[in-house]
Amino acid sequence: MFSFLHHLIAWLMSKMKDKSPRGMKMGADENAKVYMCGDLMEEIQALVHRHPDKLSMETIKAENKGYGAEVMVVTYCQGNIENHERSKFRILLSFGQHGRELITSELALRILSILSEEQFLPSMNRTSLNSTLDKLVIKVIPMENLNGRKLVESGDLCERRNGRGVDLNRNWSVDWGKKEKDYDPYEENPGASPFSEPETQIIRKLAISFDPHVWVNVHSGMEALFMPYDHKNATPDGLPLQRMKLLLEEVNNLHCKKHCMIGSGGGSVGYLAHGTATDFMYDIVRVPVAFTFEIYGDETASSKDCFRMFNPTDLSSYNRVLNDWSAALFTIFKMGSYHLGEIHSNASVSKLEKWVSIDEYLDGYLMERRNRYGKKMEVLELGMQEIRAYFRLFLLSSVLLMFMFCSRISKAKYTRPIVSAMPL
Ligand SMILES: [Zn+2]
Repeated sequence: MFSFLHHLIAWLMSKMKDKSPRGMKMGADENAKVYMCGDLMEEIQALVHRHPDKLSMETIKAENKGYGAEVMVVTYCQGNIENHERSKFRILLSFGQHGRELITSELALRILSILSEEQFLPSMNRTSLNSTLDKLVIKVIPMENLNGRKLVESGDLCERRNGRGVDLNRNWSVDWGKKEKDYDPYEENPGASPFSEPETQIIRKLAISFDPHVWVNVHSGMEALFMPYDHKNATPDGLPLQRMKLLLEEVNNLHCKKHCMIGSGGGSVGYLAHGTATDFMYDIVRVPVAFTFEIYGDETASSKDCFRMFNPTDLSSYNRVLNDWSAALFTIFKMGSYHLGEIHSNASVSKLEKWVSIDEYLDGYLMERRNRYGKKMEVLELGMQEIRAYFRLFLLSSVLLMFMFCSRISKAKYTRPIVSAMPL
């Protein structure tokens, strides 16, 4: 069975070389699968180049202990992003965090095609859509786990982790490393420490600098709409809960035929997940609307048939998934931006809450150094705690010195003869 799938993927990849439109490459019989490999990233690059007025892209690279990763980020913004990024409603979407969930990156391409007006949402009026899009900056990470995806494309269809066996949705710092009784390292290896993986470092840095209003982490394996938290059986409360619940209920009614599971990841999925991206985005980056969407799953599939468990295998399901979930995300864009005023009016409060702790700052700083100098800086990892302590001491002594300096100046001022009295 496995080698059959391997050959099938190889066959699909060889078929990709032709230039027929992307979407379905169906064979003559029912065993033929959706092709979802290989040139997706090239196709996204070509799309971006066709629409320089709306789309731009960058590739961010990082390395840790000889393991390198790169993440492509596509930005949608009408007009000059330099002038608008801060004043607009900001959305950050990630796809393909788990290698085997190929359909999620297909959805990224669909979203970008709709944004560039090469494809259209059947149920949405373009004029009203444009008035929404005018207020947004959307950053799309089409394939967060490129190295893991390569493993899947080379035949390891059950691989969800990155290129060196770490689960990128367990490598974040909120409740990192805690293991449940049914912990399976093949599935959930959290890495050597929080942010040990270059992919996670890249997304964290991007999220902190972009400071989004909405984060959606798109996965497959089931159909569900999750809000925080993943690491405990609880949701946030008060206004943040109401805001997120309202959005999820709307998406469930409009695009999920009310059958999607809604709730906290930890409370709904049947297991707790520690060190996830969405918990970090909500708790540390303070993204007011942070979701994990699970867009497709086949519970009847054999647990050995990962392709079928995580991805649609026929044309009609493939199209249904992409149509329903692109509409769902555009509903989030539209409804989410209605909250812009409300979030802006709370900005002064959230700004106070947004002070990143010195540990967070130092992690970011040292991460940058490590990336720049590679292996030479590995020793810093061992001494991270000590460096933090020295840094705190340094800050404390600087404050003391400043205090002494200021008190000397004020003494000197009082002893100086008064030359003239300046009116205000
Ligand atoms: Zn996943």
